[in-house]
Amino acid sequence: MTITTQRVHWDLNYDIHLGATWGRFMAGLTEQKILANKCPDCARVFVPPQAYCESCFVRTDEWLELPSEGVVEAFTVAWQSFRGGPTPPYAIAGIRLDGASTLLMHYVHGLDLSDPNAVRAQLPVGTRVGAVWAEERTGQILDIAHFAKI
Ligand SMILES: [Zn+2]
Repeated sequence: MTITTQRVHWDLNYDIHLGATWGRFMAGLTEQKILANKCPDCARVFVPPQAYCESCFVRTDEWLELPSEGVVEAFTVAWQSFRGGPTPPYAIAGIRLDGASTLLMHYVHGLDLSDPNAVRAQLPVGTRVGAVWAEERTGQILDIAHFAKI
C-alpha cells in the first residue's frame, strides 16, 4: 500500500499582494469611486480593472471612473452557508455598470428571499441597481456594502 494523500487543516490569516491595478481600484473605493480601465486596442472597459486585456494582450493603462449604477445581467441566491460567508439566503449578481464591458459580482440586498420560486421575478435581467457604500471604507470590495434596486 502506498499512502498518497493526507488530510490537513489550514486556518490562517494572511495578506495578499494586490498589485498596482487592484491597488488603485481598492484606493478608489475608499473615496466612493469605482475605477475601471480600458483596453487601448478593443476599447473594452474592465471593472474590476485588469492589468492586461486578455484578448489583445496589451496593457490596459487608461483609467476612468464609472457611475455606481448599472444593470443586473445574472444572479444567483445562496441558500447554504460557508465559512466566512454571510448568513444565507443572500443574492449575488453579475452587474454591468454603465459604461463597463465586464460584470462586477456583488451582493444585492432588498429582495424577499423567503420564497425561492418568487425570487426570479424580483430581479429580472436588466434590473437597474446602484451601489450602497459602507460607512467606513478601508480599500476592499465590501467598501461597496451591496447593491440595491433603484
Ligand atoms: Zn483588448
